[in-house]
Amino acid sequence: MSENICQNLSDLNDRITKACNQAGRSPDEITLVAVSKMKPLENIKEAFGCGQIHFGENRAKELQDKMEAYEEDKIQWHMVGNLQTNKIKYMVERVNWIHSIEKPKYLREIEKRASRIDRTINTLVQINISGEDQKSGCKEEDLEEILTYARELDHVRIRGLMGMATFVDPDEVEKVRPQFKKLRTIRDNHRKFEADNVQLDELSMGMTNDMEIAIEEGSTMVRVGRAIFGERNY
Ligand SMILES: *Cc1c(COP(=O)(O)O)cnc(C)c1O
Repeated sequence: MSENICQNLSDLNDRITKACNQAGRSPDEITLVAVSKMKPLENIKEAFGCGQIHFGENRAKELQDKMEAYEEDKIQWHMVGNLQTNKIKYMVERVNWIHSIEKPKYLREIEKRASRIDRTINTLVQINISGEDQKSGCKEEDLEEILTYARELDHVRIRGLMGMATFVDPDEVEKVRPQFKKLRTIRDNHRKFEADNVQLDELSMGMTNDMEIAIEEGSTMVRVGRAIFGERNY
C-alpha cells in the first residue's frame, strides 16, 4: 500500500477489474464507495481529484461536517453506518445514499424530512448476514415489512440490500462467502415485493479484505476504506 491515494485507487480498480474478469462480470457493474471515515477532508479531495465520485461515512456528525465543508456537486455521499432517528435530519439535505435502513421508522423519518425539501433519497436495507448480535442490520424476516412500508413513500427509493460479513483474517476470507451468498439469496427471494420505488438491484457488500469474494457473489457496491486511505487510528 502506498501513501499515494491516487495510486491506491488505481490499484484497487485493477483489483475490481480482475475480480470481475474472474467472475465473468463487467467492472461497470460495480460502484466503488470510498469509505473515508476518520480521514481528513484533504484525503477526500485528493481522491476526488483522481476521479473518485462516491464517498462513504459511518457517523452522522462526521458525514454532515464533511458534506458541509466540501461543497462539490459531483460527489455522491453515502451513509454506511448505524442510523439513529434523531440524526437523520443532519444528512437529508445532501446525502445521496443511506445503506443502513433496518427499521420502517427510519424510512418514515427520511420521508418526513426529505419531502420538505423535495429530495428523494436512495436507500438500502441492511441485513445482519453474519448472525453476530453486535452487528447491525435487520433479520431476513423483517425485510418484507420494510419493503411493503417503503412502497407508500414518495421521497425514498429502495435500491437494494447491504450486508457486512464477519471480520476474519485476510487468509481466512473464504469463510465469509456463505454470508454474501445469503444476502443475494435473500434479495432474490424478495424480488416479488419490488415496486416503482422499491428495487433490489443493488447489493452493497465487500470491503478491503473480502471484496473479491463479494464481487464473485454478485456485489454491485463495494465499500472500501483501508485499501484507499490506509489504516485508521482508533
Ligand atoms: C469502515 C467500513 C467499511 C470499510 O472497511 P475497510 O476494511 O476499511 O475497507 C465498509 N463498510 C462499513 C459499514 C464500514 O463501517
